[in-house]
Amino acid sequence: MKIPFLSLQRENEDHFDEICEQVQKTIRSGFYINGDQVKTFENQYAEFCDVKHCIGVASGLDALRLIFRAYIELDILKAGDEVILPANTFIASALSITENDLKPVFADINENTYNLDPKAVSKLITKKTKAILAVHLYGQISEIDQLKELATANNLLLVEDAAQAHGAIYNGVKAGALGNAAAFSFYPTKNMGALGDSGAITTNCDQLAKMIRSLANYGAETRNVYPIRGVNSRLDEIQASILTVKLKYLVATNKKKQKIANIYFKHLNNKKIDVPCVKYQDSHVFYQFVIQCENRNELVKYLGQEGIETQIHYPINICKQKSFKDEKKGILDKTCLLENKILSIPIYASLKEEEVYYIVEKINKHN
Ligand SMILES: *Cc1c(COP(=O)(O)O)cnc(C)c1O
Repeated sequence: MKIPFLSLQRENEDHFDEICEQVQKTIRSGFYINGDQVKTFENQYAEFCDVKHCIGVASGLDALRLIFRAYIELDILKAGDEVILPANTFIASALSITENDLKPVFADINENTYNLDPKAVSKLITKKTKAILAVHLYGQISEIDQLKELATANNLLLVEDAAQAHGAIYNGVKAGALGNAAAFSFYPTKNMGALGDSGAITTNCDQLAKMIRSLANYGAETRNVYPIRGVNSRLDEIQASILTVKLKYLVATNKKKQKIANIYFKHLNNKKIDVPCVKYQDSHVFYQFVIQCENRNELVKYLGQEGIETQIHYPINICKQKSFKDEKKGILDKTCLLENKILSIPIYASLKEEEVYYIVEKINKHN
């Protein structure tokens, strides 16, 4: 059997006709930028996350960097302020901070959930610390209660990098509504993926939403009036119309992935392999299913020979990248230990049950 790590072709086949219909409608509408499709999607996604505002932008990185930029324009953050984040995340999380002349400070993680360890975060808080960037890695909501407590006690902003966690729920509250503001990516591989680049910001703060809208539109206040120097970051009508279709099926897609995860939890049985820890029901939407193994290189090779593709998210943590090696960090023992053990195995809605059991059988056979 040959099992690709992810087949976007297969994933998009499921709602092919509906997507095509929407795209055709949008083409025929004659509006391609800032039209009704974007408004509709923003309203629907705000409602889905149960927040007041959703602002569509051009990518997940833009969503993140516009949040920080807006806080700077609002005089809530200033250059040199420190933002605590994990080092085992996609590089975009860190770039959104440095691009705004803020200082990233990297904290260690919990080795079972792969998310920020609140104790490690707490140790890094100084007078300069002004925000925590909680990345809901692999689709699992971070230790939000404890991070919120730290944020409240130290007067810090809590920003969510929810690029991997569309629809994850903690205690009845969805990712995107758990902090002061959240960034989403709709990159095609994400749990809710467009057919191109796009992203969004969610927040309950009117002032922040207004500033982000202005910044994303060249800094415009009203037509032809530009009090600040903004950028161009737009969600376009075609991607928005595709995303309204994707949103309809997001809950079902997440359920399918959770079902696959449950097969892995129940049947993976290899002494040399650990499965991830899910702290709360529905708080994990499995953007990735990441196992830990001592003999990763052999396992990767063996699974490849059996036709099973795997990936590593992320093999080199951000602090080890040349571009970030001199930044401030805590002790990153767990981050460093895990980067040699983690392995992402296939998990996507269109993965067939027989394929999941085939993966289980092969992994269990390996020693
Ligand atoms: C994908 C991703 C981003 C960036 O999103 P883009 O749309 O690719 O710019 C940011 N943070 C995390 C954790 C991601 O997984």
